[in-house]
Amino acid sequence: MTVQQNDIGATWLAKAGLRPTRQRVTLAGLLIGDGQHRHVTAESLFDAAKAQGEAVSLATVYNTLRAFCDVGLMQEVTVDGSKSYFDTNTHDHPHFYWEDEARLTDAPSDQLVISRVPDAPEGAEIASVDVVIRLRRNK
Ligand SMILES: [Zn+2]
Repeated sequence: MTVQQNDIGATWLAKAGLRPTRQRVTLAGLLIGDGQHRHVTAESLFDAAKAQGEAVSLATVYNTLRAFCDVGLMQEVTVDGSKSYFDTNTHDHPHFYWEDEARLTDAPSDQLVISRVPDAPEGAEIASVDVVIRLRRNK
């Protein structure tokens, strides 16, 4: 990881008021250091950190991703009710889920039109609407 990636990571953490511990800065650099949005799982970020020689546990990576979500730096996208992806793009947007590769990517927002969603049941309100479009490769 470059010094510049670390700086970008540290700035990102500061924006959210998170203390820039070394591990947080490293993970932040891996997530947004190249200026691109990224969808990761705890496992994929753990592998990326390990490849950089960073001695960090999977539990720490998971907790750090949760902390990033708690302060609004990232959002969690759940697929299949069990697989969690963490997205550096926190704006509302639809996703493609590539079933063959278990990979999540952004879908074009401007092509999505939701004209109506069911009314929330009595005593509840809609907190958010997640759109995940599941894809499989043509045979
Ligand atoms: Zn996304």
